[in-house]
Amino acid sequence: MNPSLRILSLSLIGLLILSARLLPATEFAEKIRSEVVPAVELPKDEDGLTAKEIRKLVQQAAMSGDASALAEVLRTVGKMPGRDGAASVLATAAALEKGPDDIYWFLLQGVAGFKGPDAFTEMGEFVIRYKSKAISRDLLNSLRKCRSKYANRVIRRVLDQGSADMQMMAVDIAANVPVRRTVDILMPILAREDAKEKGGKKPATALKRAIIAALESLTRQQLGDSLINWQGWWNKERVRGLKVIRDEAEEQTATTGLARPLDPVRARQFLGLEEMPAGSVLVVKGPTAANGFDTNYDHIEQVLDRIKVANTVVEKGELEDPSFSLDKVAAIFINCSQIHKFCQSPGHTAGAYTGKRLHKCEGPAPHDTVQFKMKQTAVDKLVKWVEKGGYLFTEDWVLVELLEVGFGRFVRAGVPLEGGEVVISPERGMTAHPMLRGVFIPPVDLEALRRERWAGYDDEDDDEDEDGYDPSVEDDDADVDGRRGKTAVGEEGSDSGSEIEDPDIRLVAHRWKIDKESPALDIQSKKVQVLVDSEDLRQLCGEGAVAITFPVKRGRVLHVLSHFGKQSSSDNEATIENILVNFLLQVRIRAGGMR
Ligand SMILES: [Zn+2]
Ligand SMILES: [Zn+2]
Repeated sequence: MNPSLRILSLSLIGLLILSARLLPATEFAEKIRSEVVPAVELPKDEDGLTAKEIRKLVQQAAMSGDASALAEVLRTVGKMPGRDGAASVLATAAALEKGPDDIYWFLLQGVAGFKGPDAFTEMGEFVIRYKSKAISRDLLNSLRKCRSKYANRVIRRVLDQGSADMQMMAVDIAANVPVRRTVDILMPILAREDAKEKGGKKPATALKRAIIAALESLTRQQLGDSLINWQGWWNKERVRGLKVIRDEAEEQTATTGLARPLDPVRARQFLGLEEMPAGSVLVVKGPTAANGFDTNYDHIEQVLDRIKVANTVVEKGELEDPSFSLDKVAAIFINCSQIHKFCQSPGHTAGAYTGKRLHKCEGPAPHDTVQFKMKQTAVDKLVKWVEKGGYLFTEDWVLVELLEVGFGRFVRAGVPLEGGEVVISPERGMTAHPMLRGVFIPPVDLEALRRERWAGYDDEDDDEDEDGYDPSVEDDDADVDGRRGKTAVGEEGSDSGSEIEDPDIRLVAHRWKIDKESPALDIQSKKVQVLVDSEDLRQLCGEGAVAITFPVKRGRVLHVLSHFGKQSSSDNEATIENILVNFLLQVRIRAGGMR
């Protein structure tokens, strides 16, 4: 028996005997830690913990509400052989129907970091069993950056028996698991989706397009959309192993001098965004006042420029011109800008802060008082444009100047907030929503990922055997786990009895920055979907919504609290930015471009 299990057994027995009540969080963590130090011998025939005991331990850690205590327990439970560890974590998360959000997400992040093969069998069967529930999507979302070859146990089950939205998520996971088995699993699904085209009478399914993007990412080959090309190529090349194929392709691209994309699936979509017709993306901003004051509090055009999306910037006054047509425009972004009255006389000095991000003008009189708030004609034009199919992205005070006026039956401005940072999470089950793809992924060690992805796994002989794909066998023994080259799993031919790697437990919270006097959201309609939510914010003002979206006839509005452009900090890998990318991808799909 593994020594950490012995210690755990002991601490569990202690816990169960000592207290039926809930221990305070810090006491609990201390207890676990203090008992990790002295290793005490247990009788040799000790069989470890029963499933029921493991579950009790996880539940207790979850209820303590202490993330570090929970992490300790997850690390230990993740080392246990068999399915009980994963099962207990999943059951605990499923039971947290209304419980604390952070613990729910931590449990799912935690189990997704488990390394034992049986844990993945459990996860695969769990998502199928709970496929009508939010938790199945949320677990798949937690696996998005999982690079273990055993993730294929989940992927295969979902592609076989999961719902359509879950299958899209499974293909996203597959794109990050560069082993031969992954390609073997995707190939028959590609054939299944291809058959739905009825020989070209129907368009390619979204799943087929996603599978091809994943195959390109896995194999680094560009073989187009033809099933026959992919099947023919794989039948011939499979025997060489994925590592050799990838290394060769890598050598070739190295000579082109092109920048290496971090995520080829994403890169392929960006390629499509770059091809959006000129003039189809519009950014509306506030003017610069006569005294040089830039009335914009954010510059979304800069975010778009950074991700190379061509955009046209206009001042909001131009919208009022009847000759200004929005007919060719597919997406509009509106910067938050100063919408209240202020004096713009050059040379006038600012006095005391008067609220609304303004200061008293010290003069001397006369004052040149202006207000750059959107006029009703512009509001009407935008409402009509959305109703006809336009996609509108707004932030912060645009809620006051536009949404409340033109879309008030959906959302209104709530209380002005003090500002600060709040922890955010997706609304449960919303992780499958196209707007949240890649937004709430666990942070990854970017340097390590680059090394792995581009340096190959030099110390391993991957895919050496010449056997064909055998779907009746769960894993491909020759596949080497994508994450850690040194793993011994696979060499023994069987998963039982081999040492399970330490689970990868990094419980990280995503954050949202709120500037002073940003209004909370006051949701008016059931048609409004909350994408991003904050428990912190709910406690502050009673409404936790941070990002919302709603359909308006043929179009759609997406609004975010405070300033979008200020969210992308380096520590969260700019994943928040993906909301904007996803928004544009939806626009592009609607505009008729396939990719
Ligand atoms: Zn603002
Ligand atoms: Zn003045």
